[in-house]
Amino acid sequence: MASYTIQEHQVDVIVVGAGGAGLRATVGLAATGLETACITKVFPTRSHTVAAQGGISAALGNMGEDDWRFHFYDTVKGSDWLGDQDAIEYMCKNAPAAIIELEHYGVPFSRTEEGLIYQRPFGGMTTHFGKGTAQRTCAAADRTGHAILHTLYQQALKHDARFFIEYFALDLIFDADGACCGVLALDMNEGTLHLFRAHGVVLATGGYGRAYFSATSAHTCTGDGGGLALRAGLALQDMEFVQFHPTGIYGAGCLITEGVRGEGGYLTNGAGERFMERYAPNAKDLASRDVVSRAMTIEIREGRGVGEDKDHIFLNLQHLGADVLHEKLPGISESARIFAGVDVTRQPIPVLPTVHYNMGGVPTNYHGEVVQKVGEEAEKVVPGLFAIGEAGCVSVHGANRLGSNSLLDLVVFGRAVAQRCAETIRPRQPHRDLPSSATDAALDHFDRIRHANGSLPTAEIRLTMQRTMQADAAVFRTEKTLQEGCLKMDQVFASFADVRVSDRSLVWNSDLIETLELQNLLYNAVATINSAEQRHESRGAHAREDYPERDDQNWMKHTYVKVDPNGRCAFDYRPVHMHTMTSDVDVVPPQKRVY
Ligand SMILES: Cc1cc2nc3c(=O)[nH]c(=O)nc-3n(C[C@H](O)[C@H](O)[C@H](O)COP(=O)(O)OP(=O)(O)OC[C@H]3O[C@@H](n4cnc5c(N)ncnc54)[C@H](O)[C@@H]3O)c2cc1C
Repeated sequence: MASYTIQEHQVDVIVVGAGGAGLRATVGLAATGLETACITKVFPTRSHTVAAQGGISAALGNMGEDDWRFHFYDTVKGSDWLGDQDAIEYMCKNAPAAIIELEHYGVPFSRTEEGLIYQRPFGGMTTHFGKGTAQRTCAAADRTGHAILHTLYQQALKHDARFFIEYFALDLIFDADGACCGVLALDMNEGTLHLFRAHGVVLATGGYGRAYFSATSAHTCTGDGGGLALRAGLALQDMEFVQFHPTGIYGAGCLITEGVRGEGGYLTNGAGERFMERYAPNAKDLASRDVVSRAMTIEIREGRGVGEDKDHIFLNLQHLGADVLHEKLPGISESARIFAGVDVTRQPIPVLPTVHYNMGGVPTNYHGEVVQKVGEEAEKVVPGLFAIGEAGCVSVHGANRLGSNSLLDLVVFGRAVAQRCAETIRPRQPHRDLPSSATDAALDHFDRIRHANGSLPTAEIRLTMQRTMQADAAVFRTEKTLQEGCLKMDQVFASFADVRVSDRSLVWNSDLIETLELQNLLYNAVATINSAEQRHESRGAHAREDYPERDDQNWMKHTYVKVDPNGRCAFDYRPVHMHTMTSDVDVVPPQKRVY
């Protein structure tokens, strides 16, 4: 192995990731006087959170009656009873304060005429336990994520957090007692290696949408946090639950909002048929996301897709006329032109059910502490390690996330982690000696990938993985497709041993970085498809044709999955928390989930 010089930094807490979750944690940590470093592979305000448009939920009641208990009920029901009800209570109860705090930080929320924060309706958000429609989603126009991210970055700078920008986290470092005590990272700009020693390591690395061919997420959403945790021998939770949105632009994956179908847009198959009439005779194209995504997938599977490979569907807006399109859907017209090369006044938009959100991730309790099943103990804390945001699984979203609950999850649990660290870590507490051998495995791993000299380009393995996941771990799953997919993913995972990195340089080497990211994606992908194969029921986003019903008797439990270096998965399970933190709200017992 080549010898590397490693620069060591000692801080109280290191946050990996500068999206909404990482920045909220960083602000809170720095504000409490803990020496905090935040490393990020992209510039903070380019993190994927910037793409969030619709808003962030909280029962403020600015636009009509609301109560955090209604929000609690909706979130439990939205999760299809897989969410932990104590964590959901924590999130919904703390939501109003978290929003007011964001307002005080300077987030430029849209306003009502009275000057209150503007709130809009969103799917699944109701009043009186499902009886009315709630206006609960706080919005900064259609740029809520952008507004939050910029404000949090400014606050983090104000509190003197130290940023290490364009640093790529390679591996977690543990001490002899199994406590996480640091991160090894590559400064992509200088080509130097850095060991960040810390008493707390917070993973806030976002989702892994890019394991699929079509995803609304950025190219940077490569599940690095999950990859780091799995390679360290830790289990991830509920990886089978992947949310699909029906209308992502084919190939590019950019989101075309549901509002398009609200304005009268409709889907057609290769025969030009409006097939949704067969699947949902009443709601048709405006049926819920999972129903439409499933119908589109069946059309493609049965050979009725459009295009040369019959592998997508058309979304038609032409009949709406140029005036309506210009007035009501200017952003969509622009996205379709840029990303699909389509003039929506004359041509349909090619679309495909598109991966939108990962409910699974690194398991945590509601303090953000990473937990694992050890012996009989289902939730033993891993000392020193935390996870938040889309990288984590707390689990408030269970089997299906409600729109606008993700931005809320970021800020509520970002704040919770900062509070927990302030309780358990003393500022400038000395670091224990760490033998130099502590980084050997991480260095060896990095060096092997850097010098990988096989025959397969990174992009080729990535494409095979993405196509396999899109076809076989999709919206709609059966024993046959999942078993075939698991076998194919075994082969794709194994093919990584034959990857070729053509450039050995350490400075701005995108081939190397993409290969490191690919390995993380592969770990997430095998965990996802194998967990899906194991779960014999349909719940939330996990829809099995062969087990079409939810099975509360056998499956009201969270999946823990570990992946070994050969891509083999091992499973364990723990019960869903059917209890609340306090007596302020009643547990919602399982019911049929109808809207
Ligand atoms: C198009 C779209 C619209 C959405 N709209 C909404 C909405 O309106 N409301 C809502 O609630 N949710 C919405 N969501 C979901 C929500 O935006 C995301 O779940 C959320 O922003 C994820 O935030 P995060 O902080 O966990 O991760 P991200 O914002 O993805 O940030 C991840 C961070 O980790 C860093 N990182 C990753 N790997 C490494 C590594 N190896 N080394 C160093 N740094 C690393 C990155 O640089 C980045 O800073 C939307 C999602 C999409 C795709």
